[in-house]
Amino acid sequence: MKYGGLVIEGSKANFVFYSPDGQKFYEPAKRCPECGASGQVLGEKAIVDYVNGGSLVEIVAMCPECDGMGFIVDDSDGEEEA
Ligand SMILES: [Zn+2]
Repeated sequence: MKYGGLVIEGSKANFVFYSPDGQKFYEPAKRCPECGASGQVLGEKAIVDYVNGGSLVEIVAMCPECDGMGFIVDDSDGEEEA
């Protein structure tokens, strides 16, 4: 199965896949709860500073939940998430 990208239509999103014979398949996608569909998360990075004792700086990192796509596969089967 070949990954064909993410298609967003209105409030619905689907991952598109192509089978070897050219058939198109849709996999329901939902907004990533981790990053709010932005694909990025804020993290902290420790800066080592032996003189001043070091510090934590805020960095923008790619969301590990959705690999920066902003959407993840919706496997909830229509049920509300707990
Ligand atoms: Zn995410």
